[in-house]
Amino acid sequence: MSERTRNDVLRELAQSDQRVFAQLMYDLEPHPLQRGDLLGSPRVVAEHLYFIDSGVVSLVANTRSGNSVEVALVGREGVAGIADALGNQPLPYSLIVQLPGLAYRAPKALIREHILSCSALHELLMNYSQRVMHQLAQSALCNRFHTSVQRLARWLLLTAERADTNRFELTHEFVAQMVGAPRSAVSESASTLRAKGIIDYRRGVLTIRNAKRLHKIACECFDVVSHSANGGSGAWLADLKKSTASRNG
Ligand SMILES: [Zn+2]
Repeated sequence: MSERTRNDVLRELAQSDQRVFAQLMYDLEPHPLQRGDLLGSPRVVAEHLYFIDSGVVSLVANTRSGNSVEVALVGREGVAGIADALGNQPLPYSLIVQLPGLAYRAPKALIREHILSCSALHELLMNYSQRVMHQLAQSALCNRFHTSVQRLARWLLLTAERADTNRFELTHEFVAQMVGAPRSAVSESASTLRAKGIIDYRRGVLTIRNAKRLHKIACECFDVVSHSANGGSGAWLADLKKSTASRNG
């Protein structure tokens, strides 16, 4: 039955308690994720939690003057809106769908009931929350100490990992927002990576052509917050490196 979802939290729950997994799945509704959808707005209490099945959602911090930077990424390893389930305070972040896909969602109050009645789900969500906090702390460090090209490389690898693909649609403006660098710096960094044959960018579609070299350029933050470094399958990056390398001969 866990074949119904690719979400890691739900799959792990299915492995530890089939009955609770079935009850939770009964309460979750499939929710399509469209690029640019807002799943949560700053200082508004989120109504739903989203177990991501495919696609990628960014947790974005915004300044009052309208600048923004991504502080965490959520893919099928996690749950968008998890911080809202931990307490009742509205948080100063947006949750924006970056790559389209599918999520399973339920009202926050309902998920909290499941958490209170199931220690396995509680434990899984606590572990995942810790990983999100880890990402938030690493983002602060990354934005302060690492260069635009290092951050761009880190962001592309993390997005590829979360989305399970080496090809995705995006715009320079969107990437600049996510990486937290001026658009000109991101364009220059992207041109450098493109000139080296590491990425390709055509008609709004970015392709990672050489994941191995991209990994060498990325700052240490990729390895620190990568899914493979945090209990996920370590095979992912090796597979991407192999597949992009063989595609390029
Ligand atoms: Zn970094």
